[in-house]
Amino acid sequence: MKRRDFLGGLSSGAALAACSPQTQEENENRPTTQRFSWKIVTTWLPNFPGLGTGVNTLVRYIQEMSGGRIEITVYGAGELVPATEVFDTVSMGNAEMGHGPAYYWRGKSEAAQFFTTIPFGLNAHEQNAWLYYGGGLELWREVYEPFNLVPFPAGNTGVQMGGWFNKPIESVADLRGLKMRMPGIAGEVLRRAGGIPVFLSQPEIYTALQTGVIDAAEWVSPYNDRGLGLHQVARYYYYPGWQEPGPTLECIVNREAWNSLPEDLQAIVRVACQATVVDMTSEFMAGNATALEALRSEESVELRKFPDDVLARLKVITFEVIEEMAAKDELVAKVWTSYRDFMERSQGWQEISEQAYLSTRNL
Ligand code: CA
Repeated sequence: MKRRDFLGGLSSGAALAACSPQTQEENENRPTTQRFSWKIVTTWLPNFPGLGTGVNTLVRYIQEMSGGRIEITVYGAGELVPATEVFDTVSMGNAEMGHGPAYYWRGKSEAAQFFTTIPFGLNAHEQNAWLYYGGGLELWREVYEPFNLVPFPAGNTGVQMGGWFNKPIESVADLRGLKMRMPGIAGEVLRRAGGIPVFLSQPEIYTALQTGVIDAAEWVSPYNDRGLGLHQVARYYYYPGWQEPGPTLECIVNREAWNSLPEDLQAIVRVACQATVVDMTSEFMAGNATALEALRSEESVELRKFPDDVLARLKVITFEVIEEMAAKDELVAKVWTSYRDFMERSQGWQEISEQAYLSTRNL
């Protein structure tokens, strides 16, 4: 009963559906003793605050709720496979689960990127609302279906920072020739603004910035950026994170592995992923506030806001890039239509709720 209460307490549609009353006979027929020993491969350094610890939390939830019927071994980036091979590894069934951001897999499907985040798109609250209540998750399943993968939202960092620079950005012209670590659609936006986007995974960023291989880098937000030591290798820390307003992290499950689970264990995995979204968002909110205070006391760090005209230009380019992608790819068009419609509806409410409230709190 304890586990049922817990699931019900999360009060998601999925969780409630999983808790429908069962007869004594159904319970007896349910396979309760079969055990599963799984691997999860991730795109993160092991135990890295927020991201790596988020994976550990997900695994702990699943193991605790299943009473150990699912045991999962965590492999950080490079421990079993490099970060860039997580998608293929789970797709082929060489690991049952994977954790990372969907926009790393744009080479597989351009549409995947919308399930992490897009520049000038939804914030974390809205992203969750679109995925769980706006049709986003159904579209995500459709996009991953040909790859033999079942996707779940399993984390969100909240809005990120604009990144670390070694020279001030005072106009669009300052982006010209700038070599910057910038993934996904934002990388293409930077390219059209005159910059040179470079894709690097977590283990490579610090050294690339330190040695001048890149001039600038966006990674996450104060909690993670300070953890990676980026304040030691760049002076200017820019906001807001136009490129990643509310990125979802995913848990992908190999389809055969998923189908091998009895229904109650499927419910546990699904709800553990959903609980990890809340947990990770909360960890980032708390960790960012503390890390920002610490960064502000560092004399070598200068906090700056991007000029409005730079942001306005990047926004115009962003929607040009996305419309072009949609014109070339039917799935992108389908996902973008859903995402854009949701964002337009949400905007009216956000203006008089969160946005208005936060301005009021600062009076
Ligand atoms: Ca980022």
